[in-house]
Amino acid sequence: MRTDRRGKYLALPLDDGQVLVIHLRMSGQLLFVAEPKSVRKAPHTHVVMGFDDGSELRFVDPRTFGEWYVTEDVRPDGLPVEFDRFGPDPLVDGISAKLLAERLGHKKTAIKVALTDQRVIAGIGSIYADEICHRARVRPDRRCDSLTEAELRAVSRATTSILRAAVARRGSSLKDASYRDLMGELGEYQHDHRVYNRAGEACDRCGAPIERIAIGARTAYCCLGCQA
Ligand SMILES: [Zn+2]
Repeated sequence: MRTDRRGKYLALPLDDGQVLVIHLRMSGQLLFVAEPKSVRKAPHTHVVMGFDDGSELRFVDPRTFGEWYVTEDVRPDGLPVEFDRFGPDPLVDGISAKLLAERLGHKKTAIKVALTDQRVIAGIGSIYADEICHRARVRPDRRCDSLTEAELRAVSRATTSILRAAVARRGSSLKDASYRDLMGELGEYQHDHRVYNRAGEACDRCGAPIERIAIGARTAYCCLGCQA
């Protein structure tokens, strides 16, 4: 079965031309089970999709914010038409400094708010926005339109490298362990977090304490010692 992704949405084309769309949201886990008879269903298993070879894809979602739906409105590239609303996906479309400047360089909002707005750029959540800003030495509450060309270049490079590294380490599993990969294993990128969820710890780069700051109703982790 072919699988695709844009931003935080998965797209699985079905034989009849429709596309199954899945979003894990807060606590959703997709688990592939090769031998369903030998693996008990976890509590909160809400969807089970069986394949011709007897294997299963199970969807476990304790908080039930996850989404599964099928659509027949499909673009020529096989993805749902509604994906048009998303900004570029850094790992699929690339995110150059020029593109970043076009997408958010004029905005008056904080850089973290813009980075996590799926219409601006698709696929970045709170953890990775904080890590990107730290890597790029930019405060997450900096107004986008105050960023210099050099800072936009740093943010675009950090976006690509942080997301690539996080995918290579199969994502970030936090203390609640709600995120698991397709095989049910915990991700490992949480061990590489430099600022996220580390308030009070020393910054690896400059030694200043990591802080948790407010950006409107949201929060961000950053180092005020080396992020300007
Ligand atoms: Zn620092």
